[in-house]
Amino acid sequence: MTIQEIYREGTKRLEEAGIADAALDAWYLLEHVTGISRASYYGHPEREIGGEEKERYFFGIAQRGKRIPLQHLTKEQEFMGLSFYVNEHVLIPRQDTEILVETAMKQLEPGMRILDMCTGSGCILLSLLRLCRAEVTGTGADISGEALAVARENAARLGVEAEFVEGDLFSPVAPGRCYDMIVSNPPYIPTAEIEGLQDEVRLHDPYIALDGRKDGLFFYRRIVREGLLYLKKGGRLLFEIGCGQAAAVSGLMEAAGYEEVRVKKDLAGLDRVVMGMYNGE
Ligand code: GLN
Repeated sequence: MTIQEIYREGTKRLEEAGIADAALDAWYLLEHVTGISRASYYGHPEREIGGEEKERYFFGIAQRGKRIPLQHLTKEQEFMGLSFYVNEHVLIPRQDTEILVETAMKQLEPGMRILDMCTGSGCILLSLLRLCRAEVTGTGADISGEALAVARENAARLGVEAEFVEGDLFSPVAPGRCYDMIVSNPPYIPTAEIEGLQDEVRLHDPYIALDGRKDGLFFYRRIVREGLLYLKKGGRLLFEIGCGQAAAVSGLMEAAGYEEVRVKKDLAGLDRVVMGMYNGE
């Protein structure tokens, strides 16, 4: 088969399977399997693809047709212009989260220490460490050792030094108020809403990365309260939040004594980041 025939057939199979971005996903898989660029595809659409490559391509198409996320097949996701390794043990980095990184980056100054709570793939912490012009250092914490293995792999790939610690929220973090900033995109979907999510998310993102318990706010409550013990005076806490959680999370922060609590919208105009500063003794 020619590469054009293969691509058309892949697109058709994904359309038949009801995949929304069939042509796009068929393309990314083709690029992943053959390493071919758009330019060389259009330059030589008659190039023959056979044997092992063709088999691997149609195997990937069949997997994608079963709602396996594209990123689990290509093992990567771009985030903040950087390429992150991903697998089934981490939440696939979302573009929605870039606004948190951009907001945090503007507040960083040389010498600051960052703690990324629920780091997953490490995408937030590692983007900050890699892209921030100021010299900053950081720790990523997660309850999943399998997720931390992915985060460490990403640190190595991006050439970034970071500390990773494993345990339930703050339990593995060295005690003391020594962080200038805590960033977190914790699990925030109310349990009952998970079953209504698309299959790619519901069945293939790690359940523990999604589940924010009954009202979705379980981790915000704990991080707001426990974070006070780890933030330097004047230190900042920045969260990504889910749909409709801005008022509740702002309220939790204000009640705990954080000041200058603000909400920031994402590019789609939805409330996406809640942040505040802790000035307590
Ligand atoms: N911090 C990671 C991310 O933003 C993982 C978040 C999570 O697992 N809830 O992608």
